[in-house]
Amino acid sequence: MSTVEKTYEMQWDCEFCGVKHLLGLSQRFCPTCGGPQNPAKRYFPEESAKVAVEDHPFVGADVTCPACRHAMSRNCQNCSNCGSPMGGSTQVGNLGEQKQSAGGEWQGGGGAAPAPARKSKLPLILGLIVLAIIVFLVVRVTLTKGAVLTVARQSWSREIAVERFDEVEKTAGCSEVPSGARILSRSTPTPTCTTKRVDKGDGTFKETKQCTEPKEQCSFRADQWKQVSVAKETGQLGVTPAWPKLDLRLGTCRGCEREAAKTERYTVGFDAADGKAYDCEFGDENAWKRFAKGATFAGKIRVVGGGLDCDSLKAK
Ligand SMILES: [Zn+2]
Ligand SMILES: [Zn+2]
Repeated sequence: MSTVEKTYEMQWDCEFCGVKHLLGLSQRFCPTCGGPQNPAKRYFPEESAKVAVEDHPFVGADVTCPACRHAMSRNCQNCSNCGSPMGGSTQVGNLGEQKQSAGGEWQGGGGAAPAPARKSKLPLILGLIVLAIIVFLVVRVTLTKGAVLTVARQSWSREIAVERFDEVEKTAGCSEVPSGARILSRSTPTPTCTTKRVDKGDGTFKETKQCTEPKEQCSFRADQWKQVSVAKETGQLGVTPAWPKLDLRLGTCRGCEREAAKTERYTVGFDAADGKAYDCEFGDENAWKRFAKGATFAGKIRVVGGGLDCDSLKAK
């Protein structure tokens, strides 16, 4: 990503004599009639009419003279229009942010925003939502009722993923192509750029252009391991858990196979006195085995959202 940042003059039209496209920073008064600039009438200029500002120190948005309402730089001690001291002055409005769409049109930053915006209620609303979520989670964990649970079902499942070494066609950055791969084609995408303008409120705006660094893409064929199936073995209590039997063509030839990730799951099904059924899952066989069919356990059922807290189980 490359970024270019530059500052330009906002523009304004004289509301007294009608002269257009005056410069926001360097023309604080109309050169034709002497009328003062109205910061509420500033606008982002046309692309072809942009005037760059060199080495302009940003001291904050302009402030309004408390006596004559003329906009002045924040640096001024006294109003250059009427001479009044600038104490107690308020900040002028600004047009906010403008973004260029893919089609080249500018969006946002249109309407003149009158002086400081009211405080948004958004942070308060977000805070309340977060609070509600926390309360829900706390209640869900802490608000439980006791229940007597009888072990009614027990099952297990064991899975092995099977991978095959085969030719695959892929597209990736040319620097990431594995050695030994056969490159089919190369292409370089055109960079995409986004441009953003921000009204600084002092008669200037900052334009930021960000462009992606285009990376050459290669489409290639290479031999790789790829998952092709999952073998599964399941059973109830009484059938010793076992891994599925695989008949693989081992080796590193094209079409050869190998075992990949293994997963095992052990489930205990409980019936509560009110007829409801609950399941608990265990990752290890020994934890699962200690639940004998017909044995009773005391456990906690969540009042909000339902469900059995499997960590709460205690033998009775
Ligand atoms: Zn004028
Ligand atoms: Zn003044």
